[in-house]
Amino acid sequence: MTCSEFDLIRHFFTEQSIRRTDVPLGIGDDAALLSPPADSLLAVSVDTLIAGIHFPLDTIARAVGYKALAVNLSDLAAMGAEPAWATLALTLPRADTSWLSDFAQGFFELASTHNVQLVGGDTTRGPLSITVQVTGFVSQEQALLRNGAQPGDGIFLTGTVGDAGLGLRLYQQPSDTHCDATMHLIHRLEFPTPRIAVGLALRGRASSAIDISDGLAADLGHVLTASGVGADIHVDQLPLSSAYRLLAPENNWQTAVSAGDDYELCFTLPAGLETEVLARLDCPCTRIGEITASPGLRWRDANDQQLALDNAGFDHFTSRKPQ
Ligand code: ADP
Ligand code: MG
Repeated sequence: MTCSEFDLIRHFFTEQSIRRTDVPLGIGDDAALLSPPADSLLAVSVDTLIAGIHFPLDTIARAVGYKALAVNLSDLAAMGAEPAWATLALTLPRADTSWLSDFAQGFFELASTHNVQLVGGDTTRGPLSITVQVTGFVSQEQALLRNGAQPGDGIFLTGTVGDAGLGLRLYQQPSDTHCDATMHLIHRLEFPTPRIAVGLALRGRASSAIDISDGLAADLGHVLTASGVGADIHVDQLPLSSAYRLLAPENNWQTAVSAGDDYELCFTLPAGLETEVLARLDCPCTRIGEITASPGLRWRDANDQQLALDNAGFDHFTSRKPQ
């Protein structure tokens, strides 16, 4: 980057409105100085989005800025952590004022919602790629881990699944039919909602939690492996949006559990806590199955018959392939 380009970029990232009292020194020096609370652990997570791999090349800049932070905050939500700070490493092909302004708008829109202060970063020239690192606070006793699911626990999902995967497919194969439903699904792909408040409400309650970045089948699989348990999932209980039901090929449950990028939380609750905890959550949550002692992930229909999950849905809907 030349000096003037760098000044331009700096302009967008120093103009933020969030100023936290635990940031004695933010952007501008060689490093930020941060003041972590005495009674918490730091939860730290980092994710990179590469243009053409993690989002379509022509994605609007506001969505790229929003999503780069959202996918990271989703990881903090899945830990039950309270978000605090972020850093941003931007690799840009050129200093495009209009693109940067929209990117910053999307990023700070979500940062303000969750009181996250951008405290530093790095800017380089190259193919478009965005790396965000976030830090949050959670106590050791209350952190939500992947390894605590127990036989008999209920399995829950926030929101709906399958929307972002179907949204990606519709984005790539535009059609003007069912416009509202299409727009809803593409919005779910571009502006995922990190379930921060749910993660905080589950602290010290849920026996495990994970966010759905790679699809329910894959991500719940991580919880089962880490916890040394299995699960029965009732496919007729899966929360599917009306837009998904309208536009999914044959209303296919397989694509809904294979599609990534929804950034909903999947968590488990001991039976005795279900009613109390669900009453305190600020978004719709659906019970989709139970943890079992026998290992493996089983999909069951309304008659309790076991169904096979093939890979066809995954191949169609994954957003991890080049776009
Ligand atoms: P250094 O060369 O010492 O690493 P830089 O010139 O790269 O410093 O950065 C100067 C300041 O601007 C630092 O505080 C850095 O954290 C911040 N910064 C640079 N790029 C970004 C960015 N993309 N987002 C936020 N802060 C940034
Ligand atoms: Mg630097």
